[in-house]
Amino acid sequence: MKIIDHIYINGEFVQPNGTEVRNLINPATAEIMGQVTLGNIKDAQNAIAAAKQAFKSFSKTTLEERLQMLQRLHDVMKEKSEVMIQATVQEYGAPISIATMLMNLTLRNFLNTQEVLQDFEFTQYIGKAKVVLEPLGVIAAITPWNADYTHISGKLAPAIAAGNTIVIKPSELSAIQTQLFMECIHEAGIPAGVINILNGTGDVVGAELTRHPDVAMITFTGSTKVGKIISRGAADTLKRVALELGGKSPNLIMDDADFNIAIPLAAMSCFINSGQACIAGTRLIVPEHRLEEVKKLITAAVEATKVGDVWDKNTAIGPMVSQQQYDTVQRYIKLGIEEGAELITGGEGHPEGLDQGYFVKPTVFANVTMDMTIAREEIFGPVLSILTYKTEEEAIEIANDTVYGLSAYISSSNLARANQIAAQIMSGRIEINGLHDEPHAPFGGFKQSGIGREHGVYGLEQYLEAKSIMGYDVAQIAGR
Ligand code: NAD
Repeated sequence: MKIIDHIYINGEFVQPNGTEVRNLINPATAEIMGQVTLGNIKDAQNAIAAAKQAFKSFSKTTLEERLQMLQRLHDVMKEKSEVMIQATVQEYGAPISIATMLMNLTLRNFLNTQEVLQDFEFTQYIGKAKVVLEPLGVIAAITPWNADYTHISGKLAPAIAAGNTIVIKPSELSAIQTQLFMECIHEAGIPAGVINILNGTGDVVGAELTRHPDVAMITFTGSTKVGKIISRGAADTLKRVALELGGKSPNLIMDDADFNIAIPLAAMSCFINSGQACIAGTRLIVPEHRLEEVKKLITAAVEATKVGDVWDKNTAIGPMVSQQQYDTVQRYIKLGIEEGAELITGGEGHPEGLDQGYFVKPTVFANVTMDMTIAREEIFGPVLSILTYKTEEEAIEIANDTVYGLSAYISSSNLARANQIAAQIMSGRIEINGLHDEPHAPFGGFKQSGIGREHGVYGLEQYLEAKSIMGYDVAQIAGR
């Protein structure tokens, strides 16, 4: 049993004032594996006060000092990565291959920030003005359970590099991973108060961080529903708000695509991270006259997808993170059947032989129309909806017929055509012919998928305020 009964404030592990204790459940077995004591409003206030105090000196450190600090944190995490990966498998139910990938992305977030800063100018000259980019102050980061370290590091590295201090509230479902993260911060010798972390629920600790006047900015990754609550809560103090929210991403297969490649990839894109991914391509949009071929290919792809043992390197789909998430996915599968979609593989209940834990069957529906709930709402599980189109215009219309706009996928053998389609899709990220990755490219959503962008220069600028100083000879000072 893992007992997590402290939080990390002002450079110390402290007992929270909060007394609520929650069980930590292994999603692959549904067994209790630990307990966490949650922080309360007072703990949130203490963390904010520590970050505010630390900001006074931290904001005056040099970029080099801050980058060295982040490098130390990176190195400690790298050393501990095996145990951190294991915690992700146990606590989140991520298959080991996914947990390893998430750890690599986490470490990369630190290196990316360093790379961005190599050519970044904190002081710029525009006409008669000197423009100085300054840190905001105390940043509060609120993160979800699906990739704990990755989301935290994606916010922490640029926020700290920019000279801010931070209070982090990870998901209450990630307490073991969070505990390891606290240990890394401590071992890396981060100055007291610069990085504070506390366990707590969203409606208590999250809400206090959102409303507190000493927090300058909320950087949030999570559901669109909570993103809206945070936006409202932050309005009274006009905090800056960066929101990375949900998605219902389209995957457009054009008739000239290589279906033998595109359709298995479509399954992979939907089922990535056991379907618990904001970028999952959950709406597969295919030419009507090729539907039968698509059904055969997708069924074969699902049959080849290994579900189950999270410690097996070949497993692609593990359990849902919690009973609640399992129930949510079951409810959507039931709704899909009731609303008249054609179930071509998967369905309700546990996969055969996986009765313990929160495993669901990878499920594919055909003949889905945009008025069905499964085509409109984010399910956050391995459930794929196939929709058909007659013309390219109709395919684009279906792709854009959503409140979300986080990711989109296009397959076509004609790159010029794919590019033209990409220009018409309202989405923050579009991947043509396969799954790609560019760590410095901005990541974030159109429409209700969010506000702001993470990664690269765009991600760094979120954590800076611009100050224009005028009224003296700028050219002389700039040495021009
Ligand atoms: P969630 O919105 O339920 O919770 C996210 C975080 O917000 C948690 O730490 C939670 O405790 C906190 N929270 C809840 N209520 C709050 C409140 N009233 N005030 C302040 N904080 C509050 O999301 P989840 O279930 O943990 O994660 C899944 C969701 O995250 C999905 O919708 C997914 O699409 C989204 N997500 C988005 C991205 C992205 O980059 N766009 C990445 C991963 C996940």
